[in-house]
Amino acid sequence: MDFTQIMGHEKAIETLKREITNNTISHSYIFEGEEGLGKKQVALSFAKTLLCKEQNQDPCNKCTSCTKFESGNHPDLFIIEPEKGLIKKGIVEELIKKVSTAPFESLRKVFIIDDSHLMNKEGMNALLKTLEEPPEYINIILITANVNQMLPTILSRCQRLKFYPIEPEKITEMLVKSYGKDKEEARFISNFTKGSVGKSIEIAKSQDFFEKRDQITTIIDDLLKGDRTKAFSSFGFFNNNKDEIDEILDMILLYFRDLIIYKKIGNSPIIINKDKIEYLSSQSSIDSEKINDIIDNILKTKEFIRGNVNFQLCIETMLLNIQEEI
Ligand SMILES: [Zn+2]
Repeated sequence: MDFTQIMGHEKAIETLKREITNNTISHSYIFEGEEGLGKKQVALSFAKTLLCKEQNQDPCNKCTSCTKFESGNHPDLFIIEPEKGLIKKGIVEELIKKVSTAPFESLRKVFIIDDSHLMNKEGMNALLKTLEEPPEYINIILITANVNQMLPTILSRCQRLKFYPIEPEKITEMLVKSYGKDKEEARFISNFTKGSVGKSIEIAKSQDFFEKRDQITTIIDDLLKGDRTKAFSSFGFFNNNKDEIDEILDMILLYFRDLIIYKKIGNSPIIINKDKIEYLSSQSSIDSEKINDIIDNILKTKEFIRGNVNFQLCIETMLLNIQEEI
């Protein structure tokens, strides 16, 4: 792992490299941006570079430090991740103890705290003291998708680096090249994930993503044809995929978004569900007002489910809404 293997984030990487060259490396960073953009990959590459014996803008990939880093046994690298959705104060206290002893292999010690917003308040306060007076050899990288949940006092002690989604075209290309996806599937994935590399790779590797999308398309088609029983009989599908319900509802949203585009301009390159064009065409006589109403309803369903409203009730109501004519 090094900077050359990272897709996008040129600006963030450039900043980090410049700081290495100018010797203005911060003791603490916050890498902020949505889930799945590759923040941790950048953090790891930066850590490896900082620890490398050659002390250049990129790790040499040859020295004992780089070798140990790759084998996952670097004595001066510490990665902290949440357990069961929380980084406990005890874990932070252990980290602080390690901060006070000198590095072993390299000139520095690097700490990466992933999902750092999941530290509780006590943990953040404990960390704050270290951030206020870090020993010379310490670099701490806090990674977060929810910077608003971090204490402002922590934020003010860190150099903040923002991460942005990658253009879908770049991800499409990568999925075709490195994951052997066909162009259309790759294109669907990269648009579906809105520029998240991590999520795109996860979907590219998953066996049943496109199978599920096929099932969803059939369910929608039956509902739009007025099959009322389908609203109840297809609940099982949603229940079986309860853990991924947000993703499933996003697929449905994307489908109706395409239907609106199809109604307006016909078969266009900006349609994402390209392989479902026959379905879209056969449904294109449906009223725009009705489609917008369905989209609103799906967005509300997402909110209700997040708010723990009865799952079955939410899904069946949504399905009935798709089925009903205005
Ligand atoms: Zn090296």
